[in-house]
Amino acid sequence: MRRNLFPVLVAGLLATFLACSSYAATSSDDSSPTTVVIDAGHGGYDRGGIPGQRVSEKDMTLDVARRLRSVLAASGYRVVMTRDSDVFVPLGVRTAIANSTRNAIFVSVHFNSAPRSSAGGIETYFYNRQSLSLASAIHHYVAGGAPSENRGVRRRGYFVLRRTNMPSVLVECGFLTSPTESSYIQNASYRQKLAEEIAAGVRSRGSVASSRSTTRVATAESIPLQPYIDQTRISESKKSRSRSKRSAKKSTRKKKSSSKRSSSEVRAASSNWEA
Ligand SMILES: [Zn+2]
Repeated sequence: MRRNLFPVLVAGLLATFLACSSYAATSSDDSSPTTVVIDAGHGGYDRGGIPGQRVSEKDMTLDVARRLRSVLAASGYRVVMTRDSDVFVPLGVRTAIANSTRNAIFVSVHFNSAPRSSAGGIETYFYNRQSLSLASAIHHYVAGGAPSENRGVRRRGYFVLRRTNMPSVLVECGFLTSPTESSYIQNASYRQKLAEEIAAGVRSRGSVASSRSTTRVATAESIPLQPYIDQTRISESKKSRSRSKRSAKKSTRKKKSSSKRSSSEVRAASSNWEA
C-alpha cells in the first residue's frame, strides 16, 4: 500500500488499457452477472511494501489476483483485471477501468508491511457505506481462513476506494514483513487458499446480515456485518508529522520506545491516501 507516486488519470493510457483485450476475461453481455474488477496492487517499478523488504508485494498481489480470476470465472463471474502483468498502472487508470465496467464490484488485493516484524494479520478496507457488506463478507472468509490475527474491517479513504463508484474493497492478505506470514504467502497453495477465500466473500456478499452482530460463527445463510475501525479522520498534518517521526526514527536506529504502536497506527499515520 505504498509507493504509488502518480495517482493521475492518463486518458491516452486508459484508452490503451480499455482497448486491450486482456482486461476482459470473458465476453460482455448486458444481462451478464456481476463483473468483478480485480486490482492487483502495485506493479512495475512500484514494488509495494517498505524499503528493504525481501519479497515484492507486487508479485504476490498479481499471483493472488490471477488465481482469484480463475476461481471467480469458474463460478460464472465476468472478470476484469486492472493489470495482468508486472506493469505500473496509475491509480486513476485502475479506478477508470473499474468505473467504465457495468454492474461491477471492485476488489483490490494487497499485502501488508511494517517496520516491526512481529506485526501480522488480515485487514479489509472499505470507504463507501455501500461497500461494507462486501468488506464484511470478504473479511469474514479471508480472516476466518487465515492462521493470522484478525485486524478487523477498517474504513479508510484510499484512492481506489474513494474513486470507484461501486462496492469496492481493499484486502490486506497478511504481512510480508512477518517471517511467519511471509513464509505462508510464498507458498502457492496458501495463495490459492487466499484467492478462494476472497472469492467466497464475493459470492456471499448478498448474505451479510443487515445489522451488526458480534458473533463470528459462520453459517451458510448469514454473515455478520462486521464492526469496523474508522480511519477516515487521519489528517494530512498528522501524516506529515508522522513522516518526520519516521525519518527521525530511522536515523536513531531501532528505538524501542515507539515500537508499541501497532503497525496499523504507523501505517495509518504514514502511508499515503492514494492507495
Ligand atoms: Zn500494497
